[in-house]
Amino acid sequence: MTAKQEILAELDRVNMRATVPRVKLLEIMRHDAGLAEKKGPGAGARHFTVDYLFKRMMDLKVDVGLATVYRVAQQFTEVGILKEARFDNDRVVYELNDGRQHDHIVCLNCGAVDEFFDPTLAARQNAMAEQLGYMLAGHQMALYGYCSMCRPKPMNSAQKGKPAGREKR
Ligand SMILES: [Zn+2]
Ligand SMILES: [Zn+2]
Repeated sequence: MTAKQEILAELDRVNMRATVPRVKLLEIMRHDAGLAEKKGPGAGARHFTVDYLFKRMMDLKVDVGLATVYRVAQQFTEVGILKEARFDNDRVVYELNDGRQHDHIVCLNCGAVDEFFDPTLAARQNAMAEQLGYMLAGHQMALYGYCSMCRPKPMNSAQKGKPAGREKR
C-alpha cells in the first residue's frame, strides 16, 4: 500500500470522508514525522502546532484556512488518529497516535518538544493511581526546561582555543 492508500484506508476505518484538507494534513504529518525519525533523537519534530501545519499547507498550495486545519486536527483527535498535548506555556501540539505511551519535555525558549518513555516511571505512576483508588483513563506529563540548543553555554567555552591576549597584540 502506498502512503496515500494507507491514509485513505485509515479515514475509511473511522468513517471519515477523504476531503483534501484531511488527506493533506495526514500526508504532511507522516512525511515530517518520518524526517524527524531519520534525524534521530532530539530532532523533536513529531509534534506539530496548528500554525505549523497551516504554514505547510500554504507551502503546498492547499487552499484551506487556519480554522479548518484546527477543526480537522480536533476531529482526528476525537477518533484517535491524532493525540493532542497541551502544555503550560499555552502550546497545543498534535502528533500521530501510534499507541505508544510517552511523556514530553518542552523547551521554554524555542518550544521544541521531545518525548521519552521510562518504564520505571510509568510503573510508579500506575502504582500511585492504584494507591489513590483511581482507575486511569488518561495520561499526560510534561517537563519544562531549555533544550540543548537553548540552554546557557558555559561562560568560558567561547574563549577556549583563542590565543590569550591576541586583541592586545
Ligand atoms: Zn530550545
Ligand atoms: Zn509525543
